[in-house]
Amino acid sequence: MLKRRLLLPVHRNTKVTPPPEHCASVKEYEKSLYWRKKSKALLDDHKCVCEICGRPRWKWQKYKKVWHRNLRFNVHHVTYENCPDESREDFMVLCSNCHTKCHEILRSRKVSMFYELLSQVVDNYFRYEGIKTFIPW
Ligand SMILES: [Zn+2]
Ligand SMILES: [Zn+2]
Repeated sequence: MLKRRLLLPVHRNTKVTPPPEHCASVKEYEKSLYWRKKSKALLDDHKCVCEICGRPRWKWQKYKKVWHRNLRFNVHHVTYENCPDESREDFMVLCSNCHTKCHEILRSRKVSMFYELLSQVVDNYFRYEGIKTFIPW
């Protein structure tokens, strides 16, 4: 199990956006101003690092004296069970490299599970039993 060392706090915006009253789907929820503000607060934090590879989202440019965005990041929901009152443990802050790879692994696992099922079907029903002893009539 991955050790999640740095859990950034969600900063409360001065202007509080209430969660949407009705939400038909995850997609709709993640499009809501409420969630966008909540996730943006994490991503805008200059201490923001990927919880898998540890790479920082922001880099301080000494000469220009500005924060420069180092990598694209995503906020991944670990569980949607507590929406819209998620606690900080209910999501992960990840660089888009790690985030994309995790979802790829998930997809490829589904594919390999599907092939496992198919090979069981092949073993059970594609054995051509009796094909050699078939007597035409
Ligand atoms: Zn990463
Ligand atoms: Zn995700």
